[in-house]
Amino acid sequence: MSAPAPSPTGLRVLVVDDDALHRALMLALLRQLGVARPLAAGDGAAGLAVLADSPEAPDLVIVDLKMPDMDGMAFLRRAGAQGAYRFVLSSAFDGGVLACAMQGARAHGLDVAGVLPKPVEPARLASLLAAATRATPPPAAAPAGARWSRATLARALGAGQFEPYFQPQCALSGGACRQVEILARWRHPRLGVIGPEHFIDLMEEEGLLDGLTEHVLGKALAWCARWDGAGIALRLSLNVSPRSMQRHDFADRLLALARTYGIAAQRITLELTETALPEHAADLLDSVVRLRMHGVELAIDDFGIGYSSLQRIAALPVTEIKIDRSFVSAAGASDKGLLILCSITELASSLGLRVVAEGIETEADADLVRALGCTIGQGYHLAHPMAGPALAPWYRQRAGLRGAPGLGVK
Ligand code: C2E
Ligand code: MG
Ligand code: MG
Repeated sequence: MSAPAPSPTGLRVLVVDDDALHRALMLALLRQLGVARPLAAGDGAAGLAVLADSPEAPDLVIVDLKMPDMDGMAFLRRAGAQGAYRFVLSSAFDGGVLACAMQGARAHGLDVAGVLPKPVEPARLASLLAAATRATPPPAAAPAGARWSRATLARALGAGQFEPYFQPQCALSGGACRQVEILARWRHPRLGVIGPEHFIDLMEEEGLLDGLTEHVLGKALAWCARWDGAGIALRLSLNVSPRSMQRHDFADRLLALARTYGIAAQRITLELTETALPEHAADLLDSVVRLRMHGVELAIDDFGIGYSSLQRIAALPVTEIKIDRSFVSAAGASDKGLLILCSITELASSLGLRVVAEGIETEADADLVRALGCTIGQGYHLAHPMAGPALAPWYRQRAGLRGAPGLGVK
């Protein structure tokens, strides 16, 4: 049974479309779906003016790609420069064009919730509204382009300001959660919670990433032991940089840390990004072999977006692949995208690997990847990353509600 969409009443939506008929149709659909007063603009310039004049920013801006004067892509760039909006791209073009437009916009750092092919399917619009209705966490605070000094980062690390957030991975049938991904956050005393895109690369450049990894893993293992005590048994997934794994003592330090907290090494999965796999990495392979012998599992993260050969991946004793979220959204947008996702899933399953689909943002995404044979999903539709204290209450509520409609699981 499909989960009922949360009521989007109260949602502010702007439609920017030059075609008067489509615009009217979209406004009527939005009203039917509970959006009380949708806003409309007949071209890009009028859309920008609405955004500039609105006392409260719209929650969603639905943009037609093909418009005279300023087309949808130009509008996105200019609106994105004006403020932080969440967009949906709409067009009668073939889905491949829409998927490509979405990837391009995301590459420019814009928040694109999805695509809406014309003629518009009410169910698809409803699912995008439902995703926008769910509270999204406030974006990590960090001054744009901030570049922290080594001394600042080292001081923050020493002061224990970094901590793990946890994002559940859930079975797409039944909804059970057995594994959580550890995502590093910096709880800055003045700026609030800062996301990893603002400090991971920098810390790696400054030689601080190993310290961060150990610090965050230590705190995550402590949480894991606490959850065990509460009867909640979870596996942990940890993102590691290949450079860290190349350290000759990486395996020993990780295994020692796990022992300190009484967590079996078999309950840890290491996530390596495909793009970051070095060509010749004897030391990395040493670490991999030693960790695998102790039962630590190995996942290829963001699978599909790197260009490394399958042969190189096949050379690693991989146990899991995480399909990059761009494939999940592209599959919803075009037949070509669907075929690609389908073949990645098939390949991984036939290699006997666990497949986790990333970026499950809507009920429709969950339905799609489930239909393709993916068994595990991760994404905002299932659960946002959360701080340690929030996880046990989330887990219990989920376990209590499992099977009830409205959780994005069947
Ligand atoms: P990742 O390992 O691919 O982690 C998934 C990222 O996608 C997380 O971003 C998560 O918040 C985000 N995400 C999850 N579900 C959705 C969804 O439905 N839609 C969208 N749009 N995004 C979703 P986050 O926490 O900002 O982490 C970004 C990247 O930073 C991670 O990508 C990982 O590569 C890296 N990272 C995070 N923590 C660590 C760490 O402790 N060590 C290292 N080396 N890298 C880390
Ligand atoms: Mg990851
Ligand atoms: Mg990933």
